[in-house]
Amino acid sequence: MVTPAKISDDPLPPARIVSIEGEPLSIGLREPFVIATGRMDVTRAVLVRAVAEDTTGRRAVGFGEAAALPPVTFEDQPDLLARIALASRGLRDARLANLEDATAATRRTLPDSAVARAGVETAIVDAWARLGDVPLWRVLRREHVLKREARPASMFTDITLPISEANHMAALARRHRAAGFTCFKVKVGRDWRADRASLRAVAAAVPDARFRLDANAGFTADDALALMDGVLSDGLVIECYEQPCATDDLDGMAVVTARATMPVVADESFRGAADLDRLLAAGAASAVNLKLAKLGGPLTSLALARRARGAGLRLMAGAMVETRVGLLAMAHVVAALGGVDWVDLDTAFLLADDPFEGGWTVSGSRIDLTGEPGLGVRPR
Ligand SMILES: [Mg+2]
Repeated sequence: MVTPAKISDDPLPPARIVSIEGEPLSIGLREPFVIATGRMDVTRAVLVRAVAEDTTGRRAVGFGEAAALPPVTFEDQPDLLARIALASRGLRDARLANLEDATAATRRTLPDSAVARAGVETAIVDAWARLGDVPLWRVLRREHVLKREARPASMFTDITLPISEANHMAALARRHRAAGFTCFKVKVGRDWRADRASLRAVAAAVPDARFRLDANAGFTADDALALMDGVLSDGLVIECYEQPCATDDLDGMAVVTARATMPVVADESFRGAADLDRLLAAGAASAVNLKLAKLGGPLTSLALARRARGAGLRLMAGAMVETRVGLLAMAHVVAALGGVDWVDLDTAFLLADDPFEGGWTVSGSRIDLTGEPGLGVRPR
């Protein structure tokens, strides 16, 4: 009897976790990040460093970002540092035989924080992929045993315009356009008339602009639709409308979804599998925004993305206010999915400093993964 060639489900070399450590990752923003529900001037994240060792004693270091964005996340930086320090004891010497072990270990030691799990799970799978000498996205696809060539993956991101005075938003947009961005994710949701005026100013400043609106849960359904009707009658090209209504206002989200002429993306209303079921049952979105910090890491995000896509939803890949480390982790999920409808992985370009190197090359709005093992990123 001939045994068919097996596509291995556990293609990485068996390994164990040697250590997990977290340190503050506080990087200033060039512009205050103002959204409907809050403001950030400095990132409030934790950089997670995982050391993994294979059976020959070879070691690799992996990185992950646990990105707090209060009040979007209930976690804040001191809380994340404490949780990760505590979890590191339970993770030491954990055995890694297949990918699900990384998820199981983080769920066991960090049951109550998706943000902390995101940083730790990313660092573990990054270290492990580096031991296996393959880019993380190929590990996530579980195809690297048969296809070893490191074809680079590319994607185009939008750039975010936080809520500000209309003329200032227009000036920022003009600067981004000169740097190669044509697609703007515009934060709205405080006052639809002011938002409409800002969008008009940006459209006048950048005539070829395309827009993704993000209300960050700030509107009633009526106000959300008033803004939509206004900007469409102004002639703006709107690719999608993210989280128009409050997190728990699925009725409002459903009203907007039914009437909108563009896809409606659930972000704050989509934090995991149970939310996905609720959104589908209520018809409260036609797309979901994937973020590692909400969903608990790259493996969980990939599984939920496949479920959402299977149910007919479109996908956005986003992040909190994250550095290159967190954005790369999501970019590898995008590559593993073979692309998504909208990539929103721009926050590293909004920071005053980038303390990392490797993993990607960026040209304007285009991101190319380098094909280095794991995430390929390292502190400078
Ligand atoms: Mg959002």
